[in-house]
This record gives sequence, structure tokens and C-alpha cells, in this order.
Amino acid sequence: MQKLLDGIVKFREGDFESHKELFKLLKEGQKPHTLFISCSDSRIDPNMITGTLPGELFIIRNIANIVPPYRETAEYVATTSAIEYAVLNLGVENIIVCGHSNCGGCAACLKPFDFLEQLPHTKKWLELSNSVRDRILSEVHDDKPEIREWMMEQGNVVEQLKHLLSYPYIKERVLAEQLKISGWHYIIETGEIFIYDKESGEFLLANGRV
Ligand SMILES: [Zn+2]
Repeated sequence: MQKLLDGIVKFREGDFESHKELFKLLKEGQKPHTLFISCSDSRIDPNMITGTLPGELFIIRNIANIVPPYRETAEYVATTSAIEYAVLNLGVENIIVCGHSNCGGCAACLKPFDFLEQLPHTKKWLELSNSVRDRILSEVHDDKPEIREWMMEQGNVVEQLKHLLSYPYIKERVLAEQLKISGWHYIIETGEIFIYDKESGEFLLANGRV
């Protein structure tokens, strides 16, 4: 805890001071250009890896960067309501689904059925990626666990892009070219990001161009 308390003071005296004008402006409200959906994993820093500042990314984080398919429900839905707010109220121009290497959530999907018995809510949440898991398990041999995990992480991102399009207001905006959706795979140890290319069906190294 002490590290966090020291950090608060360090922030106020350092980064806050050097971005004082920006924070004054942000007091008036937010107009983020991008909804960024990433894993809760502590090794991902959406602002750092995209070179963005406070006010630019509206961020949703959950285990394995999953987007539940659209449905009307009376439950308390965190991810779904944040998507709704970002698109309908804030009018974001982009939605990024950002998976990552060595994702514990994706690895858990590939484990035996009783693996998450002690974490019932996590287990339930990861069911949303069952169709990807079934495909990967049938396509990739179990003597290549790293390839299986890598494909699970990338396949999971593509699946969430499909789920995004099940939201009527997202589909409508994508078709009208008012909203872009993109799937990314971030590699922790190299800092590289591979972006899903719909034409080839592959993830290609981001090189700074659209
Ligand atoms: Zn993860």
C-alpha cells in the first residue's frame, strides 16, 4: 500500500504538473475517440502501448477481453453497459479489442473442464469463448501448447469482433462507416502489436499505417 501512497504524491508533483493544462481541459468533460477493450491483466497498459493520454481512451477491462453477445437483459451488465455508453453517449470513432500473449484467461479456456472449479464466476465468464476453444482444440495438436495458446488468444479476439457486430447500434454505425472496429494481439515481451486483417484472416504486425 505504501508504494501506492507514495505514487499519489509523485503523480501530483510530477506527471500532473507537466500536464496541468490538459487536466484543466478535461474538467469540462470527456470526448474519447476510442473504446479500448482489453484483458484485466496487470501487464497491459492501454495508454502506454498506444501513446495516448487521459481523455483519449474509454477503457473496458475484463478477464480475457470478452464482449458478451448482444442481448436484452435485466441483469447488472458491466461490459455491455460500458459499450452502450461509449458508442451511444460518447460517440467513439473506434473500438479496439486487444488480446495479449500469455493470457491466463485464454490458457484456462484450454484446460480440462474442472480446472476453474474453485472460481465459478470466472469459469462461467470464460464460457463465452467456448466456441473458439472447441475449434482450437480440434485444429491444433496438444503437443504444441504454445501454439494452441497463441491461436486461442488471436481466435478469441476475432470472436469478440463478431460479438460486437451483434449489437444493432454497432453494426449500423460500422456499415455507415461512422465506427471502425479492430482486433489486436499485444506481445508482452516484445512490445509488438499484431492487427487482425479481415482480408487474409491473419494478424499482421502493426507498422504505423491504417
Ligand atoms: Zn489476459
